[in-house]
Amino acid sequence: MSLSDIIDRIHAEEKRVGRELGSTRLIAVSKVQPNERVVAVLKAGHRLFGENKVQEAAGKWPALRERFDGVRVHLLGPLQTNKARQAMGLFEAIHSLDRPKLAKTLARLAQEIGQCPDLFIQVNTGEEPQKAGVLPADADAFIAEARALDLPVVGLMCIPPADEEPSLHFALLRKIAERNGVVGLSMGMSADFEQAVAMGATHVRVGSAIFGARDYG
Ligand SMILES: *Cc1c(COP(=O)(O)O)cnc(C)c1O
Repeated sequence: MSLSDIIDRIHAEEKRVGRELGSTRLIAVSKVQPNERVVAVLKAGHRLFGENKVQEAAGKWPALRERFDGVRVHLLGPLQTNKARQAMGLFEAIHSLDRPKLAKTLARLAQEIGQCPDLFIQVNTGEEPQKAGVLPADADAFIAEARALDLPVVGLMCIPPADEEPSLHFALLRKIAERNGVVGLSMGMSADFEQAVAMGATHVRVGSAIFGARDYG
């Protein structure tokens, strides 16, 4: 698999379901990958990346941004409030807004700094206790709360349970987004990004299918 194969498959799926070609943004998830694989994807012209950890991104992306123009990095993993300030300086978007305390911290920092990354609210569509995200039943209220804080809520994000049909979760996320007038849908990973495109994903987050398996050593 490679970057161009994944892009081709996204385009083929957009075409199949009658979506505008190129309307799905591909986030290349570079977490844990060796630098040479990331550089190869940058050299191929790709500019949108995803990371899971603030610390890892901080050690990696400032230097790569010096070498390559137009890079955008999105935070996909959980964010602790004590890392919020650092995250706001590192990422163009955060996909893991999932609780009032974090929303309040981001709002306070945004006021202070005068800008804020785009925010996706993570929804725990499978209601899994070990997973981050607001419960589907709490999503409408939390979206309203984040908006009342003037936060730039651009989308919703979900990670379906490993053993369930992902399309059902993508459909649920889309329904929550539609009834709240939220446009962005961050959903779909290496194993299910085509289903996500079919369900209207605006952002798919694909790691191992582009870079190869992650070696956690
Ligand atoms: C790691 C990760 C991905 C990418 O997973 P792959 O299966 O390698 O495509 C996408 N989204 C999130 C939130 C992740 O943590």
